[in-house]
Amino acid sequence: MGRYLGPSCRQCRAEGVKLFLKGDRCHSPKCPISKRKGKPGKAPRARMQRVSDYGVQLREKQKVKRMYGMFERQFRIFFTKAARERGVTGENLIRMLEKRLDNIVYRLHFAASRKQARQLVSHGHILVNGRRVTIPSYLVREADSIEVHDRAKRMTVIKDGLKEYSRSGVVPWLEVDPDGMVGTVKAIPLRGDIPDLGEVNEQLIVELYSK
Ligand code: SF4
Repeated sequence: MGRYLGPSCRQCRAEGVKLFLKGDRCHSPKCPISKRKGKPGKAPRARMQRVSDYGVQLREKQKVKRMYGMFERQFRIFFTKAARERGVTGENLIRMLEKRLDNIVYRLHFAASRKQARQLVSHGHILVNGRRVTIPSYLVREADSIEVHDRAKRMTVIKDGLKEYSRSGVVPWLEVDPDGMVGTVKAIPLRGDIPDLGEVNEQLIVELYSK
């Protein structure tokens, strides 16, 4: 199945929660979820149908997959790796997703959304420790340096993304030099330190994949 190309907000409305697919713009009061718009294309009665346990687990997985813009196959690979690591599988999964290069580029405000960040990476505009990396799912490590390629430093999307940095700063486990357009991974975050995932119950994803 190909990548979803329809309106981002429709995906959030289908899940009934904010998936932050438009990045910083999702904090606006204009967000349809904030305005409590219902599911797209469904009559009110259809929305009240009882959902099975399997359905609830499936929806939880879809939410996280959509949030990070991933396909099923890749998401499953991440889960398998998370299950092999020491510790709590669900937390390992979320922490691993958070280490994706496209996510880090978004968190550093070099892009306004993960979707835009994925494009910057795949078009070769991002360097990791001085070397170009074009794989959005590349996993960063502690102390890695993430930098915008010189050729891309004039790009409006990046400058616009960094305006959000001056408004809201950066998550505590990253550091960013907005003038040099370079960031550093100070630490790999703990589950509780990851913003925008408050409504996610990753244990449901573990239960789904453990069947
Ligand atoms: Fe649209 Fe963002 Fe709100 Fe989702 S969270 S409905 S993408 S504005």
